[in-house]
Amino acid sequence: MARIISVANQKGGVGKTTTTVNLGASLAFNGKKVLLVDIDAQGNATSGVGIRKPDVNQDIYDILVNEVEITETILPTSRENLFIVPATLQLAGAEIELTSMMARESRLKLALDSIKDQYDYILIDCPPSLGHLTINAFTASDSILIPVQCEYYALEGLSQLLNTVRLVQKHFNPDLAIEGVLLTMFDARTNLGAEVVEEVRRYFQEKVYETVIPRNIRLSEAPSHGLTIIDYDIRSKGAEVYQALAKEVLAREK
Ligand code: ADP
Ligand code: MG
Repeated sequence: MARIISVANQKGGVGKTTTTVNLGASLAFNGKKVLLVDIDAQGNATSGVGIRKPDVNQDIYDILVNEVEITETILPTSRENLFIVPATLQLAGAEIELTSMMARESRLKLALDSIKDQYDYILIDCPPSLGHLTINAFTASDSILIPVQCEYYALEGLSQLLNTVRLVQKHFNPDLAIEGVLLTMFDARTNLGAEVVEEVRRYFQEKVYETVIPRNIRLSEAPSHGLTIIDYDIRSKGAEVYQALAKEVLAREK
């Protein structure tokens, strides 16, 4: 039975998509069968694993709004053992359309429940907001992985995120847990990075992964080639740290 993890933070540009794709690829590299679910209309996870938008017939929007079977949307990626439910720009309309729909919070859960037994991990790449799409992700998930960028005000906005987690726990998914907090885009050349790491560790304690993701140019280049870091440059620092993260995630599940 898959462990379902939402990668979420309502701030944009903190490393959600980079983490979803490369943690997913690293788990797949370790022999796990992994499904990525792109629920951001930007579709960056989709293009990041080599899917061209014009080649997508049906996507996450069709699952959530048109009640298409999830199995009809799942595509293989450039990495073995790694699959994706793609997103395209039509998802931009879903936030409003879901408002007036029956069971609007549990549509993704319903879809994932039907295929949960076919994967080891399902990773959901959330949009930079706390709207219906993110609520769907949290309702469907066992846990949430929160990437936090090593910058000033790193913790800002996280109380809103945690509040949303509490609301979902109360109304839709009492078992929802915090999987872990991941420090991203660490820059060893500044003192700021180290200060932020300390501050986040003080706040989230043992929930913070030992692995800290540094800024690594290869991580930012890989998506433009439609490749995960494992396939783009397995010898890079970026590949090394996401594999270390995958080991931590696997260890925590035991
Ligand atoms: P989000 O999904 O939270 O908006 P992304 O994962 O798309 O964030 O990252 C934002 C930008 O930063 C992207 O251009 C991505 O390639 C780049 N990026 C993310 N993580 C790193 C990293 N560790 N080192 C260098 N660039 C990164
Ligand atoms: Mg993203």
